[in-house]
Amino acid sequence: MLLRHTPKEIPERKALAINPAKTCQPIGAMYAALGIHGCLPYSHGSQGCCAYHRSTLTRHYKEPVSAATSSFTEGASVFGGQANLLQGINNIFTVYEPDVIAVHTTCLSETIGDDLPQIRKKAIMEGKIPEGKYVLGASTPSYSGSHVTGFSTMVKSMVEFSERTDKKNGKINIIPGWVEPSDMEEIKRMAQLTGVETIIFPDTSGVLNGPMTGKYKMFPDGGTTIEELKSTGDSIGTLALGEWCSAAAARELDKKCKVPCKGLDMPFGLQATDRFVDALRTIAGVSVSDELSFERGQLVDLITDMHQYFYKKKVAIAGDPDQVIAMVEFLVSIDMCPVHIVTGTPGKKFEKRIKELTEGMGIDVNVKAKGDLFLLHQWMKNEPVDLLICNSYGKYMARDEDVPLIRWGFPILDRQGHQYFPTVGYKGGLRLLEKILNALLDRKDRDDPETSFELVL
Ligand code: SF4
Repeated sequence: MLLRHTPKEIPERKALAINPAKTCQPIGAMYAALGIHGCLPYSHGSQGCCAYHRSTLTRHYKEPVSAATSSFTEGASVFGGQANLLQGINNIFTVYEPDVIAVHTTCLSETIGDDLPQIRKKAIMEGKIPEGKYVLGASTPSYSGSHVTGFSTMVKSMVEFSERTDKKNGKINIIPGWVEPSDMEEIKRMAQLTGVETIIFPDTSGVLNGPMTGKYKMFPDGGTTIEELKSTGDSIGTLALGEWCSAAAARELDKKCKVPCKGLDMPFGLQATDRFVDALRTIAGVSVSDELSFERGQLVDLITDMHQYFYKKKVAIAGDPDQVIAMVEFLVSIDMCPVHIVTGTPGKKFEKRIKELTEGMGIDVNVKAKGDLFLLHQWMKNEPVDLLICNSYGKYMARDEDVPLIRWGFPILDRQGHQYFPTVGYKGGLRLLEKILNALLDRKDRDDPETSFELVL
């Protein structure tokens, strides 16, 4: 009983978060930056912030994550960190030779009031940014938003690279949002199967799920190249997967280069994947490939075969808004009942969307944006569930309430696989269902009396 002090009674709480369902903005900015080829993320703040951000990403992706920091001391904390950043930019381009330095701010540098655009101008004027190299900036104070906001802000800043010429490149930009490197690979594979040429940004596949080769590469082969980012301005359209993660960048690109954009849910589950495939097909003017139709049929087959085990099972979910919205739609479509839903990221649209998706279930749903895991646990105590879907922090609630847990989302610190096996698309839907089924059937095997302990399920 690790969370034995969580009470069933739920008094109103406004100012206090307990066991937050989010982490800080710079982690998202750092993850996004790693999706640019040859990019070194740079944390403008103290060493402690940078160490936390790097270690969280390293623990989740099980890969060494490199990042630099302004290493604020007392002087910089009082008088501002401009000198540290200018020195840092100079040192990094001299010693590590990245193509891009992606600077994000922290609580401390934002509170001091450091002005990133002004410092960058000064770095250019003083010749600290070599020819053909770039410095990106994103304002990511962690006392607002969440890691999702930080991700979105850094992706939006990547639009700065885009250039518009008179010639369209015939490609579709896909902004995948904060999904795993394996998911980005799967999104590219699906686009290839549709016969569509794409530019995906950011793209962490090959960066945070690369092979062991015996040789250390500071900048792995993966990631969106600067040339690709420049070319996004000539694409025929942009698909932004996830309102919270990707829409801001897509709108910015539309504004800057007149590339029409369409917002979609992240392609988790059957319907959201259908909409993604349909959007690809429509923009490119092609038909859905036989391979994708085959994969879709497999997913429908599994849903049909195992429907009796999903039917009316109650689920509690915590995660990031874009992922959770698609997951809730998927669960409802297979007749499961997501009854308690939180995200730590603010945004009232989230609650509205979840209510719309669940209204046909005929039962009351608890939903909260800017919620926390403490509240989710209280809801689970008041109305028990059959399954919990959450990141690794959910294991405490799962243990206390004796509920099966599926680890999904960020961060996953105590399991492997998420960086290699996608959960987007039809193939990813199969994997999600396999995980759900295994969790439910393992529990059934554990709890069934001997008289109904079956070999064949
Ligand atoms: S001080 Fe702010 S930016 Fe640094 S680790 Fe804490 S929340 Fe994140």
